[in-house]
Amino acid sequence: MTGCRVVGQIDYGRVSERKESRMNSRFVAWANEKMEVISPKKTGEKCPECGHDLVERHGRYGKFIACENYPECKYIKKEKVEPEFTGENCPKCGSPMVFKTGRYGKFEACSNYPQCKYIKNSKKKAEPVMTDEVCPNCGSPVVIKKGRWGEFKACSNYPKCKTIIK
Ligand SMILES: [Zn+2]
Ligand SMILES: [Zn+2]
Ligand SMILES: [Zn+2]
Repeated sequence: MTGCRVVGQIDYGRVSERKESRMNSRFVAWANEKMEVISPKKTGEKCPECGHDLVERHGRYGKFIACENYPECKYIKKEKVEPEFTGENCPKCGSPMVFKTGRYGKFEACSNYPQCKYIKNSKKKAEPVMTDEVCPNCGSPVVIKKGRWGEFKACSNYPKCKTIIK
């Protein structure tokens, strides 16, 4: 009885091994096909691991640079993005502030992220520029404001007075 069970286990092992290698070769064939279609662009650099050319590839997280000899060589160049310093320091922890690009554009954040999550509030409205005109409705000074469609002149008494001068 014991012997039978052992034989059975070995057979199972062989079956799954065979299935796996078949799946791998199918995946490699698929990957090669895809890569031929894209025809990667050479970067002019050499792979530090095998000496083949490094090429640009496109993955689900964007462009990356990898060895042309893939899948034999799995070297991927990790591009270190140099932070762009704003020249200011974080008011919370004193680390230098850096420019970052998010889904709503460029913003200034602490370089000590994620330890410090300070983000400079760029939504702060720009100081209105005074003009020597006065509002025809309430007599308050007219200021130049920046809106979604550019600059416009409006009463400084906003929101009490909603006069906009055209
Ligand atoms: Zn390589
Ligand atoms: Zn900070
Ligand atoms: Zn007004």
